[in-house]
Parts: sequence; structure tokens; C-alpha cells
Amino acid sequence: MPEDQPIILLIEDEPQIRRFLHTSLTEHGYRLTEAETGKAGLAQAAMQPPDLIILDLGLPDMDGLEVTRQVRDWSSTPIIVLSARGQEKDKVAALDLGADDYLTKPFSVGELLARIRVALRHAARPDDQSPLFTVADLKVDRVARRVFVGQREVRLTPIEYRLLTTLVKHAGKVLTHSYLLREVWGPPSENETHYLRVFMANLRHKIEENPSRPRYLLTEQGVGYRLASE
Ligand code: CA
Repeated sequence: MPEDQPIILLIEDEPQIRRFLHTSLTEHGYRLTEAETGKAGLAQAAMQPPDLIILDLGLPDMDGLEVTRQVRDWSSTPIIVLSARGQEKDKVAALDLGADDYLTKPFSVGELLARIRVALRHAARPDDQSPLFTVADLKVDRVARRVFVGQREVRLTPIEYRLLTTLVKHAGKVLTHSYLLREVWGPPSENETHYLRVFMANLRHKIEENPSRPRYLLTEQGVGYRLASE
């Protein structure tokens, strides 16, 4: 196998999911290494540092959150967590501990590949300084501080602009409510989720063609928001 294929470490105890991911990821040009337990996963991550880790939150020997915490002690390798339905709290906790994204089982290969692409892209260019961000008709010029939808310039308040550019900085990646509140309003506002709801609604009214069915500013139920990037 060519050496330049990204190595993905999968830490997952369910054989069916391992088989499914093995087939789909190798087919798409990734090299996969596997571990069935948290302990084995941590050892493997240290021995052969992967380009990305896919981590199941429900492992037999230790909590996926603990694995996230331990990896983050020494590595910034992107982590995508896999969670079962109803594990909203754990997902958010994993993201707040430094995981990069999540997928809820069952997920499709398409979703998985999109998450992997975004995570690897952000890892390769952690501080994307490109001043111009474009996705479909949305254009954000961070030097001129101007926002366009198609030909139409959109006027944003300073907070709306900060909210949008925070999402742009991490385009494609889910950002938790508390992360966005901290970044846009500052640490004391971390629990004021209603600020976020109000400003997100305003931003959608200005940017989205149909604010109730957003194309750019996507809601991640119970977790946060994601800016579409593809
Ligand atoms: Ca499991």
C-alpha cells in the first residue's frame, strides 16, 4: 500500500462496525488499524501515531471519554467519536474534551467520509488564514469583513459577524453550544444557550433562503451547530 495514505485508528469493540468501516475506509484509500479496547487503542496510538482516530464511546474496558482525555494529554490527532442514540451528553462531553466531531450510529459511509475529510483538512491547516471563505452562494471576506449571499451583501451586527466567522474558522465541524458561547460572548456566558438561539435565528434570517430549512447554518440537535462546508 502506498505510504501516503492516511492512517486511521479505529477503537471499537463491535465486530460488525469494525468490518463495515474496514471495507468502506480501505476502499476509499485509507489505511486502517484496529483496536477492540480503550487500553489497546491508547497503546496503538502511541506506537504508530495515526492521522485520525475513530473512537467508540461505549468500550468494554474504559470510557471513551477517558480515552479522549488521555489522547489529548499528548496528541492533537483528530478524533471522531461514535455514539449510540441517546448518548447526547457523552457526545457533548467528548467534544468539550477535545474530540473533533461525532457520528451517531447508524451512520452512512457518505457521512463518515465527509467527517473524515473535514477533520483531516483542519488538522493539516489548523490556522486556515485564507481570508475568503465560500460555500455555494455564501461568501465571507474576512479581510474586508463583508458577507455576501450571491450578489447580495448581507449586513451583520458585530456579534452576528463574530458568530459566523467562528463557524467559518471551523467550517464543516460541529461546534458545541458552550464552545460558541465562550468564543463569541466570553467565558461567563457559557450557559446562556438562549443568546445563541436568538442570534442564530437572526443570522439565518439574513443568510438563509429558507431559515426554517437552513442550508448553511445547520443545527446539531442537543449538541450545537455546524457550518456546511461542501
Ligand atoms: Ca461499543
